[in-house]
Amino acid sequence: MRDLELICPECKSGLISNNTQLSCSNNHTFYIKNGVFNLLPKSLDEVTCNDAYYHAAQKETWVEQNQIDAQRNLFFHKRIVKFISTRSNEKSNILEIGGGVGFDLELFLNTKVAFSNYIFSEISNEMLSYVSERINNNIITYCCIDAKNIPFKKNQFDFVYMIAAFHHFTDTHKALEEMIRITRNGGYILFGIEPNKRWFRLVSVMKGFFRKILPQKRHSPADEKTEGFTANDFKEMGESWGLKLIKLESVWFFCGFIHYGLEFLYRMFHLKKRVRLPLFLEKIFIYLDKCLFIFPGIKNLCWHYTAIYQKN
Ligand SMILES: [Zn+2]
Repeated sequence: MRDLELICPECKSGLISNNTQLSCSNNHTFYIKNGVFNLLPKSLDEVTCNDAYYHAAQKETWVEQNQIDAQRNLFFHKRIVKFISTRSNEKSNILEIGGGVGFDLELFLNTKVAFSNYIFSEISNEMLSYVSERINNNIITYCCIDAKNIPFKKNQFDFVYMIAAFHHFTDTHKALEEMIRITRNGGYILFGIEPNKRWFRLVSVMKGFFRKILPQKRHSPADEKTEGFTANDFKEMGESWGLKLIKLESVWFFCGFIHYGLEFLYRMFHLKKRVRLPLFLEKIFIYLDKCLFIFPGIKNLCWHYTAIYQKN
């Protein structure tokens, strides 16, 4: 970690590190094991803990089960990565929160992006060990943190971002407050591919029916509690926190029906793998969505939003 200052997640005083551990003046100690900084506070709420276990347990199948490498997902992940990589330079500090299996980290490294620090963070220590072994790259720092209690001093990051993670947080208010605190003036805060509340409500109502007809599977404990966001939620969030909402992008209309339709087929007919559409078909649906979202009103029928803020 180059020129980044850490604070104790228990008492907020400065952390001093040696090769294997970090400690504060109040004798709170944290460990660095196999290149992973474990900076979790002692107390975590139950949903956060259970969600960490759920995600870690799915790590080997995560990309396939969420069809993340399908073009309809890849396209929107790459757009977020590109937003950052085209603005980042050798002095930039980037924090990725809830990085999961490192899918976006790999996209980043493929862009040959310049940065001073890239902190890859996760709530699950097990997931971090898995990613740090898989993507063994010494310019990346792996940190186990709770987004509600980020162990960095204020105003240090140029980019703080997460993809499909914000709706998992048990306390989005506290997490956002922390993200704003550690972001420099002029820095960016990005929420990629967050569920639209309109669709999420409908899906919640229909969940009971689908669970009766489909084979059992495990679900993310945080997904069970989340409500998603409306376009107004993102606008109001910016206004109430003094952030400039520089981009609110609609993600998926037809693509959403394709995505969940393929998931339905997979589960209904006990398929070995999810059906993959040919690339040209995926591209056509992405293009059709883009055309559809030109019309006012319709852009709020999207399944997800990507919101990008700038701190003034
Ligand atoms: Zn302390």
